[in-house]
Amino acid sequence: MPDIDSLRSQLTEFCQRLYDRDLVGSTEGNASVKIDLHRFLITPTGSNLGYLEQDDPVILSMEGKQLTGDKAPSSEYHLHLGIYQHRWDIQAICHAHPIAATACATAGVALDQPILPEIISTFGIIPLVDYGTPGTPELFEKMVDLVGRYDAFLLKSHGVVTLGANLDEAFNRMEMVERCARVIITANLIGNIRQLPEEIVQKLPGFEVLNGQFQTGNSGKD
Ligand SMILES: [Zn+2]
Repeated sequence: MPDIDSLRSQLTEFCQRLYDRDLVGSTEGNASVKIDLHRFLITPTGSNLGYLEQDDPVILSMEGKQLTGDKAPSSEYHLHLGIYQHRWDIQAICHAHPIAATACATAGVALDQPILPEIISTFGIIPLVDYGTPGTPELFEKMVDLVGRYDAFLLKSHGVVTLGANLDEAFNRMEMVERCARVIITANLIGNIRQLPEEIVQKLPGFEVLNGQFQTGNSGKD
């Protein structure tokens, strides 16, 4: 039997870290963690993630039915449901609006160039998902063809989603996406940004994620 109180504490502390690291602000963002095969805890709608109480997250079934909680679940619960239904390996999901990565998503720029070895090793690429209306099932529908292949996504004109085998992994991935975006933007300001040559990319452990088909010379999905 999972210790739900412990998961509540972990999720609340996770949200506090998102806020402290400026990965979310105001009432942006949401996060969830699986309790078991049938249920997950998710942050409530309209709440500032930096000020959540332990009792605030609500429990939803894998069919989307609210099982506990006085507050309504995040309006992005469709996104979390869709991901859990398609990825049984995933235990935690984070959606945030970090400034630099969201700027890339707003500019229509995927983080899919072979520039930083650690990003290639961790993610392969970070794809840009076509725009979907926030708070509707459309957001996940736009992601469904990609969700089996990647663990981090830029949502066009919106924000970022990261997946993890636990909350720590989802958090680290969110922080890494944002830091990657900041490096790319800064390097572009300096100029002379360089892609890694293909022979170097092929030596990286994440290369097979791409099936040997790195998207070079293409700054965005569209
Ligand atoms: Zn959002």
